[in-house]
Order: sequence, then C-alpha cells, then structure tokens
Amino acid sequence: MVVVHLSAECFPLAKVGGLGDVVGALPKYQQELGVTSIVVTPYYDRKFARDNEFEVIFESNVRMGDRDLPFQVLKETTDKLGFHLHLIRIPGLLDRSEVYSYPDETEQFIAFQLAFLEWLLRFSEYPDIVHCHDHHTALVPYLMAHAFKYRFLSTIPTVLTIHNGQYQGWFGWDKFHYLPETDPLTRGVLDWGGAINPLAAAVKSCWKFTTVSPTYLEELKQSSKGLEPLFLQEEKKGSGILNGIDTDVWNPGTDPLIPLNYSMDNVTKGKQENKRALCKEFGFTLSKPLFAFIGRLVGEKGADLLPAAIEKILSAAKGKASILILGSGDPAIEEQLAQLKETYKKDYNIYIGYDEALSHRIYAGADFLLMPSRVEPCGLNQLYALKYGTIPVVRSTGGLKDSVIDVTEPEGYGICFDELSAESIVEAIGRAVDLYANTSNLRLLRKRMMLLDFSWNRSANQYIDLYNSLK
Ligand code: ADP
Repeated sequence: MVVVHLSAECFPLAKVGGLGDVVGALPKYQQELGVTSIVVTPYYDRKFARDNEFEVIFESNVRMGDRDLPFQVLKETTDKLGFHLHLIRIPGLLDRSEVYSYPDETEQFIAFQLAFLEWLLRFSEYPDIVHCHDHHTALVPYLMAHAFKYRFLSTIPTVLTIHNGQYQGWFGWDKFHYLPETDPLTRGVLDWGGAINPLAAAVKSCWKFTTVSPTYLEELKQSSKGLEPLFLQEEKKGSGILNGIDTDVWNPGTDPLIPLNYSMDNVTKGKQENKRALCKEFGFTLSKPLFAFIGRLVGEKGADLLPAAIEKILSAAKGKASILILGSGDPAIEEQLAQLKETYKKDYNIYIGYDEALSHRIYAGADFLLMPSRVEPCGLNQLYALKYGTIPVVRSTGGLKDSVIDVTEPEGYGICFDELSAESIVEAIGRAVDLYANTSNLRLLRKRMMLLDFSWNRSANQYIDLYNSLK
C-alpha cells in the first residue's frame, strides 16, 4: 500500500505544534508496518531543508488564476526520517522561512495543493490513499472529486485528519478563480455561510475523515465554529483516532536533550536530577513541587486563565509550589505572564518563545504538567509528560479526557478538573501539592504512568485499518 500524506508541517523540517509532530512520526510508524509512506510539504527556508541533500524529481508550472507558477518537487535523498519526504518549492510562496501568518497564506496553500495535484497527475502509478491533514490541504479532496482537470484522480480514496477544527481556512468567493474549473453543480460543496470553507469542503468530499481523539469528534458536533450541523450530518464518515508519540524522540531513557537519562527503574533519581538542573536554570527551590506549562499562549489552551490562577496559587500557597511557563502567543497574555515575574521572583519564571530543547528538559524535570485547555483536539504534551513520569494536571476535554485518568479512579495517574476557571486550576494544583507530599504514592504514580503505551504503533495500525476499509 502506498499512502501520500499532505501537510503544512512535518517535524523536524517545520513544526509549529502537534500537527508537525504527528506528520513527522505517523508515516515512519506506517512505513515500519509495511506501508510505503510519502510525505509532501511546502519547502521552507529552514535548517533541515538547508542542511540535507535533496534532488529535484519533478518540475512544471501550475496555473492559479492569472498567475503561472513554476514549481519543483524535491526529494530528500536518504529517507533519513524513515519515510519519503518531498518538498514543493514555488519561488516567492513556498520558499520562505515561516509556516504561517503571511498575508497571502490563502495563495500559499492553494498553490501548494495545486502543484501537488499537478505532480500527482504525472505519477506512473497512483497511490492507494491521499491523506490530507488540516485545512491547508483540505481543498485536495474536493478538487480530486470534482475538478475536470483531475478527473483521473477521482478514484483515489481521500482521508482527511482534523488536528484542529477551529482553523478552517475560509476565503472569499472573489478567489474562486484560483481554482481549476469544476462542475458548477458541485460548487455548493465549497461553500459554508457564504465563503469558501476548505475544511467544510473536505469533510463533505473526502471518503473518510478522522479527528485526533474520539472525544474531539463528539465535541465538534457541539462546537466547531459553525460547522456543527456538518459534523452531525457526516458523522458516519468520521472516526476518532488518538495520536501517539514518537518514542525515538520522546523517551527519557535515550533523550539526548536532557541532563540525565532514566527509566521506570530509577525514575525517582532521574526526575530528581533533571529537576535539580531545571531549578538551577530558573532559580527555583528543589524541594517544592514544580508545575510547568508548555504551549501556545492562547485562549484555546486556557492560557488567559493562567495569570489569575498563578497569582492566587503563589500568594495563597505561601511558597509551596514553583511554576514555570514556556510558550508564546497572544501578546496581552505574554505581557501579563511576564509581569508576574516581578512579584514572584523565587517561585515563578517564564521563557517567552519557542525552544524545543527546553521543552524536553521541562518534561523531564517538572513534577506536574499543567494543561487547563478550553479545547484540546488531542494534546501531545500530556502524552510526553506521562512518558517522562510527570503528572498531568488537565481540564477534561478532547484528547485530555481520552488519555488522563484522575488519581481518585482505581488505575488513575493524573489530576483532572472540569470547570474552566482560575479557581478550578488553583484547586487542582492544591490537590497536586498534597499528592506531592506523599512520596511513596508519587513513586507508584510515576511508574504507573511510564508503563502506559501511547506509542504510535497502536494508532498507526488504526489508520491502516481505515485505509484498508477504503480499498
Ligand atoms: P497544538 O494545539 O499547539 O498543536 P499539541 O499539544 O498538539 O498542541 O502540540 C504541541 C507541541 O508543540 C508539543 O510537542 C509541545 O511540546 C510543543 N510546543 C508548544 N509550544 C512550545 C514552545 N514554546 N517551545 C517548545 N515546544 C513547544
């Protein structure tokens, strides 16, 4: 079986969040299970693309409205990532350093998809599945099904995975002329509320769609920025498959980015030594429980609740806990969180920015990982935390609900709360502080977490079963 994954991100070439992690790992595990996995992403002017060898395997031009865009397909020559990585380069659109936030992002991703389809038409043998990830690649299922130019591709099954349904890629009908000619009777497929909505178009026209956790699939039917009726209508096509983690990258036993490697057998010492280094780096006291937050500082992650919660914890807990934040995002939240440093010098610190290596040191060195998410399609942070013996403190939503069991349950290992408020975060942290005081319980919980298997093996097989059902 040959599967082509299409994505805006792929670790280590380009990662902004969970999408990059998933597309950098799932294809590798599928390849190990005997599926030929091809990943196609835009070319980014980044370290991985500059430092590795690529050969041009295809060159052509593609029309986007009145623009004639020359493009190249580059293949990484050694397949060092464990799958076949291909990059599409288009001067001025797909050769820049950032993944998102250019004013012409719509044109950027339409051009990417059109160039991909142009190349796919020339394949000597078509793949068995085209697997699209998120809205940046979501016009592909529609175009494969309904564009005259791509009619030969219409028999290839398409799968869409929704990593984040809040972003749908809307653009106005004034840009409709960017797309190749399609059957006029199918144009309604593109429309949602008077705009072209790529995510909606893909849900309507793909053969199957998945979400990155079962609970998130249910939540999209209740709340998905206007697409609720669509998810209800198409529910038979959908399934939820929880993401896995790449244990070649995320494994405290082998991780080269942490001060001391450890396993379940020496978890107490391992955590202690990593915590010692982290406390030294950020000026914390070793004996206090250390809580960390890693992620985008946006409302989706509940980051707007953090300033009030941190104030309450650090003033009320009378120095019983330390808190470390790694993230960037909404400037107002960044500013509020940065200011707290002035008041709570000893027990609070923040690094505003993106630092992959620091995130590894935090997963290894923190005692608790805080995730008060409003929305969490899957969440990878809690899965990394579990692997590193770091207790997740989570709001029970989406993938957090599917992967974290509260300590009060028989096989529980985390701290869960339901209400979205600063008070609930404070209360959950209070429970964690109590739990931390009981060292034998702590050891047991860490071992229990580290025994869990959230590796990709299980989820990669679920995707393969889904592909097989489409043959
Ligand atoms: P998202 O909604 O952002 O995709 P996920 O939990 O699915 O959330 O994935 C987040 C990924 O990004 C994790 O690998 C996490 O460690 C990483 N990450 C997020 N913010 C940062 C940061 N500031 N520095 C380093 N890694 C980060």
